Amino acid sequence: MITRRIYEEEHSIFRETVRRWAEKEVFPHGEKWREDGIVSRDIWRSAGEQGFLCMYADEKYGGLGVDDFRYDMILSEEIAPREQGLFIPLHNRIVGPYIHKSGSDAQRDRFMPGVVSGETVLAIAMTEPGTGSDLAGIKTRAEDKGDHWLLNGSKTYISNGLLAGLVVVAARTNPEKSHAIGLFLVEDGMPGFQRGRKLKKLGLHSQDTAELFFEDVKIPKENVLGDPEQGFKLMMTNLAEERLMGSVGFLAHAEHGFAITMEYIQERRAFGRAIGTFQNSRFKMAEMRTKLDAAWAFVDHCAMEHMNGDLTAEMAAEAKLFVSELEGFVADECLQLHGGAGYMAEYEISRVFADARISRIYAGSSEIMKEIIGRKLGLDDRKRN
Ligand SMILES: Cc1cc2nc3c(=O)[nH]c(=O)nc-3n(C[C@H](O)[C@H](O)[C@H](O)COP(=O)(O)OP(=O)(O)OC[C@H]3O[C@@H](n4cnc5c(N)ncnc54)[C@H](O)[C@@H]3O)c2cc1C
Repeated sequence: MITRRIYEEEHSIFRETVRRWAEKEVFPHGEKWREDGIVSRDIWRSAGEQGFLCMYADEKYGGLGVDDFRYDMILSEEIAPREQGLFIPLHNRIVGPYIHKSGSDAQRDRFMPGVVSGETVLAIAMTEPGTGSDLAGIKTRAEDKGDHWLLNGSKTYISNGLLAGLVVVAARTNPEKSHAIGLFLVEDGMPGFQRGRKLKKLGLHSQDTAELFFEDVKIPKENVLGDPEQGFKLMMTNLAEERLMGSVGFLAHAEHGFAITMEYIQERRAFGRAIGTFQNSRFKMAEMRTKLDAAWAFVDHCAMEHMNGDLTAEMAAEAKLFVSELEGFVADECLQLHGGAGYMAEYEISRVFADARISRIYAGSSEIMKEIIGRKLGLDDRKRN
């Protein structure tokens, strides 16, 4: 693996702390959480106690006031390979910034202490039964009733959907304007807010992906995030960070698949030799190693761009496209190198394979990533002569 140049001494120390915590508090519970279809609430509080949640939050909220994306990369690199359902990156870098950056002082005062301590788990609800990729097509609506908003609709496939104490919900706010979408802070216990099934999935078995329902939910005006017609813009801006954050976890997960396969092919024997010594195995591993190294270099480059405020939507889309496709490729090749064992639940590679499949779909599918990149190239089919 290439030497990563983006990390400094303090990051290595932090990595050790995360590693020790994950070995003790996270990984031993994986099997139980996968059976339960959900991680424990306690692990969120434990992460909060360690100071791992929304480190960028102000000290007055219990945060560290340190906005260094690399700490979140480390959390993802250390946790994602072996525990795929604990969505700290979603909490820290996908939903947290909506409140931290786009929320009002009053919203930060109310919500950030719980978000930092792990009492309040975060989720974001954009996708609906009728639409996912086409965000402008959402049907959930919020009506301005003077002193509050009235929210009606439903969402599906929502990560942290059952554990979440606070959900950022996207809803249409002006029926005449297709892009007039507002973001509403929906709190656990609000009358009319209900959670549906814990959805059964191909992989990510410890992730509580769920449906959410809103029936005449009265949303106080102080729970609107920013301008109630400009939520779409906000989502588009934040999606770049979300896609880069996802890429880090996908790549770390692929790296783990590679590592367990290295071990397996050196032990397993066929025709009187370790299967890793066949030219085919050596070439497969060499190809994967090369692609993984290239991906790390690209992801690290994107991370530096992000920290300098220069990460574009297209570059984040390139990272997400390249890395999620690579993760799928590595998971598939590594499973093949395991032979029949790779298809057995007791071999970890089978889980890597199933868990990896979602990366090409959520946070914007590979096809949507290509649309974003292609449009920037000026190849927009809406520009017909
Ligand atoms: C486990 C899991 C967790 C999730 N977590 C969340 C969450 O926390 N919050 C949230 O809001 N959503 C979440 N999602 C939803 C996810 O983001 C969507 O599933 C995803 O964006 C795709 O939308 P869709 O399922 O409606 O597919 P569709 O939009 O129906 O797409 C179906 C197919 O058509 C393709 N397609 C669509 N449009 C185009 C186009 N213009 N050109 C070419 N091809 C196209 C797609 O790429 C895909 O292959 C989650 C989904 C899963 C499965």
